[in-house]
Amino acid sequence: MNELASASEAPSPFARAANAMRAALRFTLDVALPPLCPSCRAPLGDGAGLCPNCWSKLSLIEPPYCARLGIPFTYDPGPGLLSMEAIANPPAYDRARAAVRYDDIARALVHGFKYSDRLDLAPMMGRWMARAGRELLAEADALIPVPLHWRRLWARRFNQSAALAGAISALAGPPVLHGVLQRVRATPQQVGLNKNERAENVQGAFQVPPEQKAAVSGKRLVLVDDVLTSGATVDTCARALLRARAGHVDVLVFARVVAPVRTPI
Ligand SMILES: [Zn+2]
Repeated sequence: MNELASASEAPSPFARAANAMRAALRFTLDVALPPLCPSCRAPLGDGAGLCPNCWSKLSLIEPPYCARLGIPFTYDPGPGLLSMEAIANPPAYDRARAAVRYDDIARALVHGFKYSDRLDLAPMMGRWMARAGRELLAEADALIPVPLHWRRLWARRFNQSAALAGAISALAGPPVLHGVLQRVRATPQQVGLNKNERAENVQGAFQVPPEQKAAVSGKRLVLVDDVLTSGATVDTCARALLRARAGHVDVLVFARVVAPVRTPI
């Protein structure tokens, strides 16, 4: 995403240092104590991922949904129908799929994963993503994680999208292409911006360097990110890949923001 994290949500250097210390402490404690649910902090016993209570509240995205954008419909209009958004404002990518709605539980998972070094959550999140994106992954030649700018990568120490892509690749097969898509411009956080401002903010932020164009030419690619809000980031990434002559670009995210009611037309 890098879209939803606000300046207030993004950790300061002090918060990062505190997170690193907490992660070190957690590692020490985990040797003696069972892991905790990343959402409610309940002990998980021998389990991993979410506690049963939070699991029951997580909102998985299932069909029926818009064939193009993957936005869930309130009733089944039949196969292949598109949402109003997909027709009025079609994205550069072909199809988008998401494992869950971005709600309180999903936010706790994503924030724990991204800002508290809970890399142990990647296999579980990747499993849900592989399930949600199975039709995309069956046809894919490779996965492309949405890249971070090097400064943010340095601060966070890992790219959450690359960790998810690695988990999906291990389950579903397509290899991860690292370094093919590059973030050439650091962009301010997207929160607080409207749809047009978000698109403007990330315009020209991504490119495929000339020496990497052969790696994407004619390929069916799946862009991987943690959260989809307006879709501006993945749309800009898809445009960069298509300019480098990628054959086809789909999008697979862990969570997406969904407005309450969607009616097919
Ligand atoms: Zn819980």
